[in-house]
Amino acid sequence: MMISPRIEIDLDAIEHNSRELVHRLRSRGISVTGVTKATLGSPDVARAMMRGGIRRLGDSRVENLQALRDAGINVPLTLLRAPSPGWAERAVACSSQTLVSDLGVAQALAAAAGKRGRAHGIVLMVELGDLREGVMARDVVDLATTLSRTQHLVLMGIGTNLACSSGVIPGAEQMRELSGLVELVGHRFGVPQPMISGGNSANLGWALSGADVGAINDLRLGESILLGVDPVTKLPIEGLRQDAFAIVAPVIESMCKPAEPWGARTQSRFPRPPTHAWGPAAGAGGVQGEVVQTIVALGTQDVDVDGLRPSTEVRVLRASSDHLVLQTQERLAAGTELRFGLTYASLLRAMTSPFVYERQVSKVPA
Ligand SMILES: *Cc1c(COP(=O)(O)O)cnc(C)c1O
Repeated sequence: MMISPRIEIDLDAIEHNSRELVHRLRSRGISVTGVTKATLGSPDVARAMMRGGIRRLGDSRVENLQALRDAGINVPLTLLRAPSPGWAERAVACSSQTLVSDLGVAQALAAAAGKRGRAHGIVLMVELGDLREGVMARDVVDLATTLSRTQHLVLMGIGTNLACSSGVIPGAEQMRELSGLVELVGHRFGVPQPMISGGNSANLGWALSGADVGAINDLRLGESILLGVDPVTKLPIEGLRQDAFAIVAPVIESMCKPAEPWGARTQSRFPRPPTHAWGPAAGAGGVQGEVVQTIVALGTQDVDVDGLRPSTEVRVLRASSDHLVLQTQERLAAGTELRFGLTYASLLRAMTSPFVYERQVSKVPA
């Protein structure tokens, strides 16, 4: 029998989604950096992206980029989260450029690159309202000037990131502002065609809307490639596949039990609302009598439980670190495997759990 819990990965779906997005964005003058972080820097996923036409990869973790390098992947790699100075040497060892906003980080990267006798690329990140990384627009020219004069650094371009921290939706206004800054930075770029990286999957609505893309020539895409979903609308992107990933977990108990707990109650150690917006509408919250309660061997240390998408016959009731408590229509034999779709957050955690195994599957697109 196959081991579970396991993540099943359909690499053909990832290749398909990559090819589609590369194609659609190419006609807008934008190229794609494929982002592998939700898959723990999986070289197989990276290669599927590359088969789909992606020529640059990025990840937020040094370890993941190192895994790609160790697997012999030779395309340019971008480190998406600035390393602390203590990580600069490892960052420089596995990536060719880093998204940076802090001068101290840049200087540490310069020193680390100098030790290796090479130059490291910097994409200067600009804050455009989401309040995560990035320098304020008023400081861009000064910092770009300093970076362009720093030995062992090459200013490769500028970029921004929206929608990830405060949920600010990237649109024409921010992209116009970024394009305007490109002109101001002008001759300080160390390359003839600087990378102007407009953001992540949340930018696709803007990028594919027909709006003027200005100077933007790169997007860093993870979720849209892996799950075929637009993170702003949460809706499937037309023509993309949403079935690249599923998590499969085995039943370890299934029996009739009261729908409601009894006894004096404290707060659950993993509190969560009793009813959810997904699964069949009849809430166990209001159900009298008994239900079929089924437990699978999966928990909050393996997945973001709120990001599990069960089939319609199954409802997620509760979860603790190791037990996922479900309501099912009938009793299921121990070992029966149940399958769930995943949101990006849930995928990220599942791929990061050492208790979740991996299997590659291939389905012919319908
Ligand atoms: C994760 C990340 C991305 C990719 O975001 P998706 O929403 O998965 O497309 C892009 N840029 C940065 C800086 C990131 O951290």
